[in-house]
Parts: sequence; structure tokens; C-alpha cells
Amino acid sequence: MYVGNVPEPTGGYSEFIRAAPDDATYFRSIILFGPNTASYKFALGRALLDLAQLGRSSVTLPELAPFFVHHILLHLKGGQAQSTMTNGLFLKAGIAHLNGQLDADLLDDLTVKHAFRYVLDLFHWLPKGESSVKFYSRSKQKRRTLTLTDELLRLTELEQRQLAEEIEARWNLVEHAWTQKHLGVPASRPIVVGHDSQDLVLLPWHNQSRKSLTHLRPALSGYQKSCCFYCFQPMDTTSGQNCHVDHFFPWIVGFQIPQVDLNRVWNLVLACPSCNGGESGKWDAVPLRHFLERLHRRNTYLIDSHHPLRDTLIQDTGSTEAQRWHFLIEIELYALTHRSRRWLGPLELEAVF
Ligand SMILES: [Zn+2]
Repeated sequence: MYVGNVPEPTGGYSEFIRAAPDDATYFRSIILFGPNTASYKFALGRALLDLAQLGRSSVTLPELAPFFVHHILLHLKGGQAQSTMTNGLFLKAGIAHLNGQLDADLLDDLTVKHAFRYVLDLFHWLPKGESSVKFYSRSKQKRRTLTLTDELLRLTELEQRQLAEEIEARWNLVEHAWTQKHLGVPASRPIVVGHDSQDLVLLPWHNQSRKSLTHLRPALSGYQKSCCFYCFQPMDTTSGQNCHVDHFFPWIVGFQIPQVDLNRVWNLVLACPSCNGGESGKWDAVPLRHFLERLHRRNTYLIDSHHPLRDTLIQDTGSTEAQRWHFLIEIELYALTHRSRRWLGPLELEAVF
């Protein structure tokens, strides 16, 4: 069988930005890259998008607080951990507020004093330095006011919605991973995640029940920059009509290799309706080899960017790049032997990932 070389990895976040250096990509890279120690960055991201939607060009910290708090409270209500460590003063105050022990004004005050202390300075930081595109600025003289930049305000309404959903999906996965850690679930037993129509679900092992973790499309769309995996056509990822969840290897192959679960993240991509099932669409054929290389690079990226699904990807497909490539090649060979039809793919736009 022809194995070929293991495809070169994509080169992390700098490559991620270089491939499509627009405002939305910079915003995504801030949300997707770098480790998180608490969910403040997600809440700030959501608050900024809310303000952009209202067309605000500046905001004082006391004005920002309720926007920020709104999103944190929704997640605290869900009972999942919001930090890698035990709750600090601000998160404790949020829980006290939910229990009716602290009023909203006091919580807003504590937000400005405690929650904003670091996140406002750290929001734009990427693994190797500060993002060159910024979504707000703060002058030395007026520390209590954020000026929202054109880069934030010119995000389109669709981009705002897509980014908000992507933040939410990432947030849901990260808080789940933190909760597992707090509960003492060992790292050797990663989250086992599959999909169930439109949701990513935690699969039962141990005595855990099957439960929904987050919506599937926004969890996958960050890397694809809301474009089709095969043709790079921009999609509205907030709608199931324009954006299909596609099994790279058709699920029908799964009946023949029962030890491989094709419903897992490693095999799922987002595709436009015409690539997925149009007249010359993929249907249940096997995509050409360069698409397989693209899938391998996507999975490597998710692992390297410390995605919350990193461990589940490694568990399903192998711990080294070579192992993961061979895993894909073997399924390709099997699929081609048993189904034989190759899909040549669509006319592709310029690559954005
Ligand atoms: Zn397409």
C-alpha cells in the first residue's frame, strides 16, 4: 500500500493566522490558542461581541461588568468548574449572588476590582507574544475606559454570531475538562467524546451517564474558519442548512470495521451542502489523498493547540504523528478495498486553513 510521508504539521497559530489574516481569524486565535486557567477570557470575549453588536465604541469598566458577569453566571449556574484552581474571590461572589446572598451591584464592583485585574491585560496574549490586531485599547491615563477598536466593530453580524458560538463551544469543553480534573479523574482516562446528531456528547464509561457537552458545529468551526473543509467556501456555521457535519470516512464503512468508531471527533468535519451531498458531492465515497492529509493536519492542530479534546483524539488515533497517519491510511485502504469509489472533490477556493 502507498503510505507516503507523514504530512507536515501546520505550524501552530502563526500559520493559522497567515492563511487568512482577517479580523475574525485574529479574534479566533485569541480564543483558541494558549492555555486557559480560568474562563474570564471567554466571558470577556462574549462581552466584547455583545458591545460590538450594540455599536458601542467605548465602555467604562463599571459598564462592562454586567456584560461580563452575565456570561459567567450562566456558566456558574451549570455547576461546572470555572478555573483550574479552587474558586477565587470573584467566582465565590458569583456563586453567592446565585444563592441570593450578594446583590448585583456589589458583584459588579467585585468584578471590576478582581475579575478585570488580569484578564484585561492578558486578553490579547498569544503563545509567543501579543496579537498584532487588538479589539480594544486602554490608555495609561484612562485605565477605567476601554476604547473598542475598528477591528472589533467591523466584524459582520454573522461573524459575531459565529464567534460567540465558538467561544461557547470551547468554554463548555474546557469547563468540563476542569471539572473532571477537580473530581480527580486521572488524565489517563480522558473525556471520551462522540457525537449524537447535533451535539458532542460525553460517552459513558465508568458510571458516568451519557450527556451533552456542547454543540458540534461551533466546536469544529474555529479551525475551519467557518469555511467548508473540502472547497473552502464560507458557510453560515450557525445553521444546519448551510453547514453539514460530515463523516470524512463514511459511517457505512464503520459496519465493516467495528473496532473503529467513525462517530468520533477525529473523523468529523464541516462541509457545505454541495460537497456533502450535492450532485457531485462526496456521499459515501472516500475523498482523495490530499483531503486525508488535510484531516491529519487538522487533528494534529487540535492536539498541538491543547484543545480540550486533545486526549480523546490521542486515545482514538495514536500518540505520535506517525501512528496517527498510519491509523488514517489503514482505514483509507480498508474503505477503498471494500467500497472502492474515490471522490475527486470540488473546485477549491484559496486555502484558508
Ligand atoms: Zn464545499
